[in-house]
Amino acid sequence: MATIASKLDEVSGRIARACDAAGRPVSSVTLLAVSKTFSADAVLEAMSAGQTRFGENYVQEALDKMAALAAAREQLEWHLIGPLQSNKTRVVAEHFDWVHSVDRLKIAQRLSEQRGAHLPALQVCLQVNISGEASKSGLAPAEVEPVARAVAALPRLRLRGLMAIPEGGGDLDSQRRPHRALRDLLDRLNAAGLALDTLSIGMTADLEAAVLEGATIVRVGTAIFGGRSTAV
Ligand SMILES: *Cc1c(COP(=O)(O)O)cnc(C)c1O
Repeated sequence: MATIASKLDEVSGRIARACDAAGRPVSSVTLLAVSKTFSADAVLEAMSAGQTRFGENYVQEALDKMAALAAAREQLEWHLIGPLQSNKTRVVAEHFDWVHSVDRLKIAQRLSEQRGAHLPALQVCLQVNISGEASKSGLAPAEVEPVARAVAALPRLRLRGLMAIPEGGGDLDSQRRPHRALRDLLDRLNAAGLALDTLSIGMTADLEAAVLEGATIVRVGTAIFGGRSTAV
């Protein structure tokens, strides 16, 4: 069985080739290793191979892993990429470095109020329902600008950009379409005076399409840690 280290190598190779094809420097894309459903030991193994940024979907599961890996906290960056309910904002504000899944102003306001003064600003992205699926969370594209302005003004947050989980499947061209739509939205926000530098798109199945369309953070789980038994 391939080790986590060798799978990380493979994913880095995929990112490097996609950057080449896009004419982008490899350093313009950050790999977020999505460790949801995998153990603290798996995170540790990835860490030994040099990976320092990890994405988690479930708050309690993430807190348990952070506790198990507390000794390495300084070297690690924890990103929440799953849905966030109001009653969980406090622990998230206290423990995470990034939240990609902010989908309403209320959540951002709570995170800002609850972010400890001793911590650096919490880095956030707005989640956008870019393919307009009824079942997916995220702001509708038309709602994004006013929310982005309000979030950018919150004192303890730093609004970095946009995140999306487009419908999977299809060929490279059909995968690129929703990614391009998200990038166009980011460009429009920046033209309207916001200063956003992050596009969080691309997973195991579509990271090449995402890099071609300007992804700055790709969130990869399966290709690093293997298949998950529970569908998420
Ligand atoms: C699970 C998950 C990922 C990783 O997906 P893979 O297909 O396993 O790479 C990325 N982003 C989000 C929001 C996820 O929930």
